[in-house]
Amino acid sequence: MNIDSHPIKFRKALSAWYTVGRRPLPWRTEPSLYRTVVSEFMTQQTKIKTMLPYFEAWMKSFPDFDSLAKAEDQAVLKHWEGLGYYNRARNLHKLAKVYVNLKIKPKSKEEWQQMPGIGPYTSAAISSIALGQANAVVDGNVVRVLARLNDDDRKFKNNGLAVKAFTSTADNLLDDKNPGDHNQSMMELGATVCLKNKPLCTICPVSKFCVAKERGTQEDRPKIESKSIVRIEIERAWVRKGDCILLHHISESSSQLAGQYELPELKMISGNVSDKRLLLSQSRSITNRRIKEHIYKCTTKERNEDLLEWVPLGRLQGITLSGPHRRWVKDLLKIDN
Ligand code: SF4
Repeated sequence: MNIDSHPIKFRKALSAWYTVGRRPLPWRTEPSLYRTVVSEFMTQQTKIKTMLPYFEAWMKSFPDFDSLAKAEDQAVLKHWEGLGYYNRARNLHKLAKVYVNLKIKPKSKEEWQQMPGIGPYTSAAISSIALGQANAVVDGNVVRVLARLNDDDRKFKNNGLAVKAFTSTADNLLDDKNPGDHNQSMMELGATVCLKNKPLCTICPVSKFCVAKERGTQEDRPKIESKSIVRIEIERAWVRKGDCILLHHISESSSQLAGQYELPELKMISGNVSDKRLLLSQSRSITNRRIKEHIYKCTTKERNEDLLEWVPLGRLQGITLSGPHRRWVKDLLKIDN
């Protein structure tokens, strides 16, 4: 039995599993167009477990398009602090401002794609999940499920090309009467059962339709070339003067992280640095980049007035620190007491 010859039976098995076994995520238990839109922005590039507390806090402060449209830029960014990829927050804010002013609200996938920050994936997700339109959603999870169900051994250079290649299969399999739940069930299967490494085939609700499982090739599907790893080392400065620390205030005109603060890179104050001493080394990964950051305690007499700012410790809560910098500042304040 495979999905091409038995699409109805497949959809039935998947739907029965999803109805009972889906995770009770807040945009599912209390669905609305706005909550779907926010969840789609937040889950791009971010795991659900990480974004859930952000989603709850966001809904308390900005419960609908109107409240988000009226919010100050800095308040919006502050709520996004720690989630990364801040352009998502800026675009979501822009989208709310455009949406509240539209006399005729977008309904179709094509109309949603005209809104700020919305691409083919998000427009398909919003139009199917919140508006019941028959558009298949294809993300990395869905690609994995489809490649395994069909034991598709085509090789792809990257995820984007794989998504394009599997869109017609996803369209053919879509449950036109219930596209939102169907899309979510495919993504849920990929996220919780058909895992990238070690798929849980023994508990899979659609295992009888899976050709890769039958042939034992599941872990080799889909075939997508992995990006080569890029290693980056960054040196940063921890400079204190009384109750102030020296931070880099990122220019408002910057395309990335505009208006946010970071520990400055050592090169920003190099030439003026004395007594350099390593306090903290941290590693992190962003997609294929492996980044090592070394933070040095140092003193400096001069500073670049345009880039750097003495920030009183009492003001730290009110500013937006990018990425992991808030955690580092907290740790450094303990180390350097
Ligand atoms: Fe994925 Fe295994 Fe289910 Fe096939 S049987 S869809 S490989 S979890």
